[in-house]
Amino acid sequence: MSEHRKVVDCRLYPSEKGCTLSIEGTEEEVLQAATYHAVSMHGHENSPELRDQIRLIMQDVDPPGASEK
Ligand SMILES: [Zn+2]
Repeated sequence: MSEHRKVVDCRLYPSEKGCTLSIEGTEEEVLQAATYHAVSMHGHENSPELRDQIRLIMQDVDPPGASEK
């Protein structure tokens, strides 16, 4: 079982606030946190479409020094 860490960088997200938040964790954690952040801080509507957009800007995180298991 591989647990890939993901990151969503708010600078990559279309925003008028100039937000620089970076959210990192498992895909599910990032998805939940980023959805909450987008809704509460950016006024987005909590919808499946928003989650799709978050998945689009979600990037893989390479764990330092842990490339093999
Ligand atoms: Zn933000």
